Amino acid sequence: MNLFENENADPSSSSENRIISAEEPLPRYLEGLNPPQREAVETLDGPVLILAGAGTGKTKALTSRMAHILQTRRAWPSQILAVTFTNKAAQEMRDRVSQMVGGRVEGMPWLGTFHSICAKILRYHAELAGLNANFTILDRDDQERLLKQLISAANIDEKKFPAKSLAATINRWKDQGWLPEDVPKRWRGEFNGRGLALYEEYQERLTSFNAADFGDLILRVVDIFRRQHDVLARYQHRFRYILVDEYQDTNVAQYLWLRLLAQAHRNVCCVGDDDQSIYAWRGADVNNILQFESNFPGSKVIRLEQNYRSTTHILGAASGLIDRNVGRLGKTLWTDKAQGEKVRLIGHWEGQDEARWICSEAENLTRETGMRRSYEYDEMAILVRASFQMREIEDRLMAIGLPYRVVGGPRFYERREVRDAIAYFRFAVSSQNDLAFERIINVPKRGVGEATLQRIHLEARDRRVSLSEAASQLCRESKITGKAAVGIRKLLGRQAVWAGMIRDGGRAHIEVAGQILEESGLPEMWTNTKTPDAPARLENLKELVKALEEFENIQGLLEHVALNFENVQRSQEQGILLLTLHSAKGLEFPVVFLPGWEEGVFPSQRALEEEGDPGLEEERRLAYVGITRSMEICSVSFASARFVFGRWRTQDPSRFIGELPVKHIEDMTPPGLSPGFGFQAARSSQLPVDRSFDSDVYSSPGFQRMARRVAERGRFGTAGFSRRRLESSSSAKLEAGDRVFHQKFGYGTVKSSSASSLSVAFDKSGDKKVLASYVERVDNDGPVA
Ligand code: ATP
Ligand code: MG
Repeated sequence: MNLFENENADPSSSSENRIISAEEPLPRYLEGLNPPQREAVETLDGPVLILAGAGTGKTKALTSRMAHILQTRRAWPSQILAVTFTNKAAQEMRDRVSQMVGGRVEGMPWLGTFHSICAKILRYHAELAGLNANFTILDRDDQERLLKQLISAANIDEKKFPAKSLAATINRWKDQGWLPEDVPKRWRGEFNGRGLALYEEYQERLTSFNAADFGDLILRVVDIFRRQHDVLARYQHRFRYILVDEYQDTNVAQYLWLRLLAQAHRNVCCVGDDDQSIYAWRGADVNNILQFESNFPGSKVIRLEQNYRSTTHILGAASGLIDRNVGRLGKTLWTDKAQGEKVRLIGHWEGQDEARWICSEAENLTRETGMRRSYEYDEMAILVRASFQMREIEDRLMAIGLPYRVVGGPRFYERREVRDAIAYFRFAVSSQNDLAFERIINVPKRGVGEATLQRIHLEARDRRVSLSEAASQLCRESKITGKAAVGIRKLLGRQAVWAGMIRDGGRAHIEVAGQILEESGLPEMWTNTKTPDAPARLENLKELVKALEEFENIQGLLEHVALNFENVQRSQEQGILLLTLHSAKGLEFPVVFLPGWEEGVFPSQRALEEEGDPGLEEERRLAYVGITRSMEICSVSFASARFVFGRWRTQDPSRFIGELPVKHIEDMTPPGLSPGFGFQAARSSQLPVDRSFDSDVYSSPGFQRMARRVAERGRFGTAGFSRRRLESSSSAKLEAGDRVFHQKFGYGTVKSSSASSLSVAFDKSGDKKVLASYVERVDNDGPVA
């Protein structure tokens, strides 16, 4: 690999190296840019900062600038360093520039994320960091596992001083650009006074394993640059132009890296928006953007004020919200787009109603009305604060068959912990299920390694029995002994009990599922795992038990998963996009749904518990990012009850709802929930707990229903769950002509009814006889509150 190919080639000898003059026709990529954007594109010498609000064309200016540099032959593609935040953004930038200049960018070796570019540099100079070029990059799990070993070797009680918190400390130091020797005195006392020593040891261990963690990729390159001037000089010389998108989310180490590289040519152009800084929790430092002018003397700051993305109402709502933040520069934003629709706000009784509304609304939007155009599913996105919110929505999308994609992770039923749990359910139903047995036999660890498993396989083949029978036989004959034998016997013993419970059907299936899950050891395993993703995995397990409520029995869920997920191609290419707010940065969609605006979900519980406002302000910026992703239609929603962490909880509308300017909002919260419950509640008290102002809310059937459910349901896995959520709601007698919804068959119209069964003409599935307790009455394709 030669990173320095073409190093001395000078593209500027070409006569094209000049700024376009007023008389000649504009190249295509400059057409349509507004004057400040054009200034940003054409100011090629010296540092430039484009500081502007969402949707003002910062990324567009940055890509046009790149095209301009190439087109005017200021630099070869290999002499441009272009840094973005995600791989998706890097790809998009590559595509956009290619389009502008017509295929000249296939050779842009230095367009990528901070991490990918630094990994490349570090591999090239690995020996200067004491590594081999083929070093391994440690992910966060590996990092914590290694720290755990060091903590226990140092005789520190991991329960009191968890590896997770040491990892957080070390990562923070690395984000600051501090090697062990750079850690300032006042921080050295962290982790009970042992933090620094452990950091030193950890770095030594990494080197001896020929490994680097994420923070190292940047930090070690900065360190090489500082120590080896000749190496630095070559890169400084090479990168004639440096471009950085989403600059507000860089950390100090990344800033140091950029500053070192920019010292020779000084042609650095950064774009960003302080209002969209959403990674402080990962070490991003918004001061990088606020202090750009003093960090890069002689710089030009360009502000863009015209928003090209969103309608007036959407922009107004977003601007009003972000105005509440104190620590911000403040900007003017305007748009000449139509007023458009107001931002919709809608409250629901519970999470399922919210999911149902989103899906039916998405369907409605595919149909044109006199007021607006029709939309494709591809043009819609659902942005959630936390990934556990996705399950309920995914299930609903599945149930009515809308195409969807999940960004930044597998779909709910494809997640590892969920698949493990499903495998336990399968095995509980039948001990003959070899695939399930194989998946779970050593999860959690039961001492059954590869060799033992192979033995079981051979035995099963020889005797033509299932894996579990073979395992049982081998244990009986003492061919498997020790921990593995104990583990296998115990699992098989439980399986017999589980199978019995499922067969006789005497207990509520949710209760049985709760017990299977508890006894599987999966929740305990994830509770004891100290990796950053463990809490989310635990939440997903609880979410799975909640999902079971929607099925008549455990087999119903298994069938749902088998039919809908396992035989279908893994991820769809098209459809509604489901993603977290964090991964939606920089993207835009004609239609955006923002569910779960409730205290404790958004803003998150963590932000609420934090002292002072920084956490809350970051959540508010995230809300701003969310709203400003929308171009034409934006819907904010919340539910007044949710099944969270295994319990029903009443939810308070998010304080952010109350902060949205009234004139840009249309409150669609249905009667019974509003007035007083939605927008007004958030505005006046934020606490619907104090409901004295609106007694109607209490007496409405929807509230009664919800309250009854909340009271009926017990803890995760214990008795007291109502068997099915629909039972209680269908008590009102259904008659011929009523519209109903059935989980499996969808919408339909009742033809006739008897004591407990109904004959229904389903819109898509034809005529069926169903139990009255399994349908829900709907009105205009929405639930009756
Ligand atoms: P964010 O802060 O969300 O990253 P941004 O400032 O990077 O937003 P872009 O994504 O570059 O904004 O642009 C937003 C939208 O406006 C895009 O659809 C883009 O094509 C369009 N746009 C940008 N500049 C112009 C312009 N001068 N004329 C017309 N459309 C424009
Ligand atoms: Mg952008």
